[in-house]
Amino acid sequence: MSAKIISGSEIARTIREEIAREALRLRQEYGIVPGLVTILVGEHPASVSYVTAKQRAAHELAFYSVQENLPETVTEQELEKCIDRYNNDPKIHGILVQLPLPRHIHEQKIINAIDPDKDVDGFHPVNLGRLMIGGDAVKFLPCTPAGIQQLIVRAGYTTEGAEVVIVGRSNIVGKPLAVMLMQKARGANATVTVVHTATKDLAAHCRRADILIVAAGVPGLVKPDWIKPGACVIDVGVNRVGEKTSEKTGKKIPILRGDVDFEAAMEIAGAITPVPGGVGPMTITMLMANTVKAAQYAANIPLAAKH
Ligand code: NAD
Repeated sequence: MSAKIISGSEIARTIREEIAREALRLRQEYGIVPGLVTILVGEHPASVSYVTAKQRAAHELAFYSVQENLPETVTEQELEKCIDRYNNDPKIHGILVQLPLPRHIHEQKIINAIDPDKDVDGFHPVNLGRLMIGGDAVKFLPCTPAGIQQLIVRAGYTTEGAEVVIVGRSNIVGKPLAVMLMQKARGANATVTVVHTATKDLAAHCRRADILIVAAGVPGLVKPDWIKPGACVIDVGVNRVGEKTSEKTGKKIPILRGDVDFEAAMEIAGAITPVPGGVGPMTITMLMANTVKAAQYAANIPLAAKH
């Protein structure tokens, strides 16, 4: 039997249509245009491509969007000053600083400088605290975990009472996702296990999972015999394993692989996300959803969207 492919690209398209309708309602009923600034430090190719994709999505949704490019040599103070300018700009509702930052800049200090009400990445300690409390306290869900939750729910999987195993405990994926999925809430209420580099028998934990989410950054880490037959497998890993020439543009593009041995897993899992085209498009989509939310919070408008 072959697993169903959960297409992040398709689900993301549906959610973007919902966001577009919500943004139109904001414009027509309240005269508000959601505003997003993406701040890029340096010219790291992966970061440039992520920021470009975020700007493209914002344009397509007719947001007010600004791209701020700062040199690799920018100082911490200059970057904080730049953030503060957007903290005080009423046209901007969401501020995204593309990570990672150069070594001479203290990343957490920069995240802390963003106004928590404009923190559309959901990484500010205030928003992580709100996430921990859950319920009405939550303002912004971190984008990748939020995208993963949407993928699971919209693919028709029930999280309520499910055994969820998350491989990886990073601050941007594993930890916030575990907190989200253990909450007593819709699309959550799961029994969550987080496994990591110190876990003794990784395979045994994974085999118990009704929903297995892998965010380790190790290509092909999860083998087919680690997967419970029929499980829902979400592969978050994006690993550059080589280069190929694009048929469309003739340019060199990276060859991407996930953390799961995809071909073999297809024979065991009930459903699986591909890499690319799985979690990736969802992350950017949830950033757009958070930007609309930020605009709504700023104007005290009740939320109508379901993400
Ligand atoms: P990270 O390096 O910060 O964290 C990886 C985690 O996996 C760590 O907690 C570590 O303990 C665990 N881990 C690593 N190797 C392991 C092993 N052999 N066994 C068990 N646990 C192991 O990475 P991250 O930022 O969370 O990203 C993880 C992967 O997800 C990367 O490939 C990254 O590119 C990808 N990612 C994708 C998106 C997206 O939008 N598609 C977003 C974020 C991250």
